[in-house]
Amino acid sequence: MARVIVVGGGPAGLFAAHELSGNGNKVILIEKGLDVEGRKSALNKGGKEKGEAYVCGMGGSGTFSDGKINLHPEIGGNMLEFVSLEDANRLIECVDSLLTKHGAKGEAKISPEAKALAAKCAKAGIKYIPIRQKHVGSDKLPDLVRSIVKELEKRGVEILTRTEALDITVRDGKVKGLKIRTANGKEKEIPADYVILAPGRVGSHWLMDLAKRMGISFRHGPLDIGVRIEVPNEVMQEFTSVSWDPKFHIRTKTHEDFVRTFCTNPSGYVITEHYGKFVSVNGHSMKEKQSNNTNFAFLVRIELTEPLEDTTLYGESICKLSYTIGGGKAVLQRLGDLQKGKRSTWDRIDRSHVVPTHRDVTPGDISMALPGRIVDDIREGLDALSKVIPGINDPGTLIYAPEVKFKSVRLDIERNMETKQVSGLFTVGDGAGVSGGIVPAAVTGLIAAEEILRREKKK
Ligand SMILES: Cc1cc2nc3c(=O)[nH]c(=O)nc-3n(C[C@H](O)[C@H](O)[C@H](O)COP(=O)(O)OP(=O)(O)OC[C@H]3O[C@@H](n4cnc5c(N)ncnc54)[C@H](O)[C@@H]3O)c2cc1C
Repeated sequence: MARVIVVGGGPAGLFAAHELSGNGNKVILIEKGLDVEGRKSALNKGGKEKGEAYVCGMGGSGTFSDGKINLHPEIGGNMLEFVSLEDANRLIECVDSLLTKHGAKGEAKISPEAKALAAKCAKAGIKYIPIRQKHVGSDKLPDLVRSIVKELEKRGVEILTRTEALDITVRDGKVKGLKIRTANGKEKEIPADYVILAPGRVGSHWLMDLAKRMGISFRHGPLDIGVRIEVPNEVMQEFTSVSWDPKFHIRTKTHEDFVRTFCTNPSGYVITEHYGKFVSVNGHSMKEKQSNNTNFAFLVRIELTEPLEDTTLYGESICKLSYTIGGGKAVLQRLGDLQKGKRSTWDRIDRSHVVPTHRDVTPGDISMALPGRIVDDIREGLDALSKVIPGINDPGTLIYAPEVKFKSVRLDIERNMETKQVSGLFTVGDGAGVSGGIVPAAVTGLIAAEEILRREKKK
């Protein structure tokens, strides 16, 4: 019987724990945040607790996400770096079937209409990726997570919430245990044969520090930074009626940069996420409460080389500038004002036909908040999109800035997610830089769990 500790109660940790349980192994899941109920009440309180409860706790950042379930091996990370296409599809089916069992309803098929739209986009020089997709909705996700947690408990997983992983104990290059801070503030060590670290983006700094201390090499991942676009539902309907979250990839004319749409929310709402010294916008949609607008992230990919490889530092600097110009809030601008080089005002925004779903922002000028190259990319990207989505570059289109998706550092790992330097230590999910979405995070958790089960079977 192996003792396995999983750190992080997000999709990567939950799916790893599920796979490992029920096989005679002792599985402990450590989560520094609260259970789903605790998170919900913390969200109603506001302040720092609200910010933490949003991304920390059982279900991780998946719990209050939009719950778009993208069933594709190359969306939200590239699973084919780690497994064959056949295995990737098998693992995706495993994730889909557990999510379906716990409430992710609906059929996910690629329709003939999606293929026709892909052809239309190709003729306009835009890559449109037809994918199988389901949508749970942020109002339904907490119940889904609660139901998975109940199943884990039934399968014998010991779940410790409000418990923080601090450090790994290693002897002779092998994992021996995990040092934790318990819910009542005491520090102690628990023995382990294997540790799977799935701390999510919120835990990526901790993971990087740990790697430095343990001599595990890592590299910085690319940064995706840009804005959130909001338009009337009708503008995007041709695409959103076929796929809830249509994916467009564009190369811009001037800089030949890679720009993509991400996290589309038909009838959705724009929100602000607080990161302490800066903010980033995001979006979500609900099954039962609906707006008249569709929003989506429009992001530019940035990879840095010498002398600054740290994309997180660069991304944070941009967000801080934006935070300053927005007076501590996200900046909102009409596309027409950006085109004329004017800052937006509430007066001008309120005269527009697109009514913002998020008003806790500062009307301003995104070209004062973001580097010129990113603004060029956004303008050119919208012009390109307008060839297949007429109206997307209307002067009334709303632009919220900044939206940032940090890619965590990638530790030096094997294809089975085990670190090269420490035997028995696996790093998975968004925090380890190997995924960027619910399904791919869960798949990386499964890859590590399957490897542990394989080894234990051999013993
Ligand atoms: C607003 C929002 C909307 C999103 N919408 C979608 C969507 O529609 N579709 C989609 O596919 N993806 C979406 N995502 C992304 C998705 O939620 C993440 O990709 C996914 O949750 C990553 O899973 P993970 O398990 O790697 O990490 P996380 O879900 O971030 O979970 C990590 C967990 O580890 C815990 N932790 C961290 N450090 C420690 C430590 N030292 N000790 C103990 N516990 C620790 C954290 O508290 C956290 O609960 C969204 C994200 C956000 C924020």
